[in-house]
Order: sequence, then C-alpha cells, then structure tokens
Amino acid sequence: MIGVTILGSTGSIGLSTLDVIARNPEHFRVVALTANSSDKRLAEQCIKWRPEFAVMVDADATERLQQRLKHAGLPTTVLTGIEGLQQVAALPQVGYVMAAIVGAAGLLPTLAAARAGKRVLLANKEALVMSGQLLIDAISEHGGQLLPIDSEHNAIFQAMPPHHADGLDQVGVRRILLTGSGGPFRTRPLDSFDKILPSEACAHPNWKMGRKISVDSATMMNKGLELIEACWLFATGPERIEVLIHPQSVIHSMVEYCDGSVLAQLGNPDMRTPIAHAMAWPERIEAGVAALDLVEIAKLSFEAPDTGRFPCLRLGFEAAQAGGTASVHLNAANEIAVAAFLKEKLPFTDIPRVIEHTLEAHSVAPVHDIDTVLAADHAARITATAYIAALS
Ligand code: NAD
Ligand code: MG
Repeated sequence: MIGVTILGSTGSIGLSTLDVIARNPEHFRVVALTANSSDKRLAEQCIKWRPEFAVMVDADATERLQQRLKHAGLPTTVLTGIEGLQQVAALPQVGYVMAAIVGAAGLLPTLAAARAGKRVLLANKEALVMSGQLLIDAISEHGGQLLPIDSEHNAIFQAMPPHHADGLDQVGVRRILLTGSGGPFRTRPLDSFDKILPSEACAHPNWKMGRKISVDSATMMNKGLELIEACWLFATGPERIEVLIHPQSVIHSMVEYCDGSVLAQLGNPDMRTPIAHAMAWPERIEAGVAALDLVEIAKLSFEAPDTGRFPCLRLGFEAAQAGGTASVHLNAANEIAVAAFLKEKLPFTDIPRVIEHTLEAHSVAPVHDIDTVLAADHAARITATAYIAALS
C-alpha cells in the first residue's frame, strides 16, 4: 500500500487522481488532501477518504474546515498555509505526491516533496517552468522520481527509451514532436479575438480542465509552458522540440529516432490515463478510460502552429531560448494577465502584450537558488500588475 498526498485534491486533476485511486484501493491509500479555500468540497472528500491530514491554505477556510470535520466526528488533523502543504508533501508515510496545485503556489510544496525523496507526479507544470534545474537536482540528490502527468509529457516519457536522462543523442532520439489541439480559437476569425469572453476561453473542445489552464490553452501559452517543461524533463533545448497542431487530441505527443522511426502514444483525451500510468509505472493499472475507437474517430489531422495568431507560443519559445529567470518572468506575467482576463479586467488580446512587456522590462539572470526564483516571480508580478493598471 503506497501512501499518497494530493496537493490540489479539489481541482480537475485532483478529482481524476481520486477516481484512479478508487479503482485501485489495493495499491494506494490517501494520506493527505489539500485545497486553497473550498472548505466544503475538501470536507466532503475527507468524509469519503478519511485522510490523516487535510490542509487549507486560506486561514478562514481552515477554521471552517475544522468545524465541519469536528461535526462529522473525523480524527483528521487539519493544517494550514503553505507550511502545512510542505509538511504533508514530506510525510514519512507518503510515497507518492500528486503535485496538482495550479500556478506558482505549487512551487514550494512540490520542491518539498522532491527534497523528501518522494515520487513526484507532476501536473503543476508552472513549478518546473519556474524552478527548472533546481527541481530536477532536488529529485536526483534525494533519490526521488519525477513522473510527468501533463498528457504530452507523459506520452513522450512513454515513447522514450530507458536511460533518456543520459541525453537524447546517447539514446538515438532526434526530435520530440509536442502536439497540441490548438484550443478553442484555432479557426475563429482573428478580428473577433478582442471580444473573447472568459466562458468561451474556458470551453476547450477536447479537455475539461481548471480555468487557468483552459485560458492558457486558448492563448496557446499552455504549449509555450509545455515546451519549457519538456526541455527540463528530457534534458534538451527548444531546438529539438517541434510543436505540432493536432486538433483531435488522440496522439498525445511523439518521439522521433535517428533511424526515422516515430513512436507515438495514443488514447482518448482523459487525464486518468497519464495519472494511472505515472502512479503504476513501470506496471499498468485500470484507469476507467474508455477504449479508443479509431474507426469512430476516422481521421487524424496535423498542421503547423500559427504564432501570428498565438503570440504567446512565440513568447514561450523566446523564454525557453533565453533560459535563467526568463521563464519565471513569463510564468508570473501570464498568471497575472490570465487572472485579470478571467475577472474581465483585461481583453484576451492584451494577455500577450502584458507578458511581452514584462519580459522586456526585466533582464535575465541565471538561477542558482530558490530565492532568485521567488524574487524574479515577485518583481514580474509587480511589473505586470502595473502595466495592466496603465492599460485600463
Ligand atoms: P484546478 O483549478 O481545477 O484545481 C487547482 C487546485 O489547486 C484546487 O484544488 C485548488 O484548491 C488548488 N489551489 C488553487 N490555488 C491555490 C493556492 N494558491 N494554494 C494552494 N492550493 C491552491 O486546476 P487543474 O486543471 O486541476 O490544474 C492543476 C495543475 O495541473 C495546473 O498546473 C495545470 O496546468 C496542470 N494540468 C492540468 C490538466 C487538466 O486536465 N486539468 C492537464 C495537464 C496539466
Ligand atoms: Mg498538456
């Protein structure tokens, strides 16, 4: 029985993780569940799963959760704040930590799991985009494992040969083909982009996800973040990664070898597949995912990405090439711009403007420690916030 902590258990990935655990009760035991402020939903999960620990980040919500669990007569220990998240990420009785908090808020607890030598199941791509080498080094120094949950990176991991960490040339890999659906606005007339509503941006054609990643998919910043994520996970530069638009989201990414072979991982667009893969690796377990019906799908198509339509993708490439704190600035500005867009305080078309302005306003520094990352994140947020205020 492997003890599991789920950071962000009330979110889309958190719910899919609990669904996979429910199908495999002989393998996994829920030790800790966490959420930001949704005390009602976390209480319901605690009543169902009876974890040893529950963490709420928001202080008022922590008190409400305590009351709810007391009423229900549960012995669950309630912790609070970022310290509580770090604590449950490093518990000795936990083997696997699902990192499924959205955004920079997940960075420190994910690092805590890596430093405690856990198997880190990484959905929280922003953590790796921000801390890159620091997270990779923490995993190897403390004897942990980093398994990608993002469907593309999980697909690449599945198509890669063993020992790919030694370098792509050493294992005969020429290129990574990183696929993306193109999001909800792949064919929408460009002259109507300034009218895009949050509800339209959050209506992804193939995936049901949290609101932030849905907007990232609509701007294609998601693919920019994923490009940087792939560079760190597979120890390569952006020049060896090609982004490919594949609207059906059936092929989840591919690896091209020096002999001309291309290996792909296919499946229905359902996050329970990569979650189950990473939780069971190197074995396989049931995920509850319907069998792929290729006759029904009939046609798979591909096209080149359009960076004129989606400037965020270009910005992601540029930050990947610049290295250092550039990706921290990119991520922070994007989080601020997406939050403003979701509150209807910023038009969709201004999201890339805010990011580009923030990238230009800060010089790139090398990242040697977490303090550099946190300072760059803080500074970029101030720049992006001031720029949005000036725009309106
Ligand atoms: P979501 O918004 O549905 O859930 C986010 C979770 O994080 C919730 O449990 C919430 O309580 C918690 N949270 C939010 N802000 C927090 C804070 N400040 N401190 C602590 N906890 C906080 O998001 P999601 O769609 O599940 O995505 C989670 C992560 O997984 C993101 O990084 C996303 O990019 C990545 N991801 C998601 C999908 C998907 O299909 N949903 C696919 C690939 C990658
Ligand atoms: Mg993805």
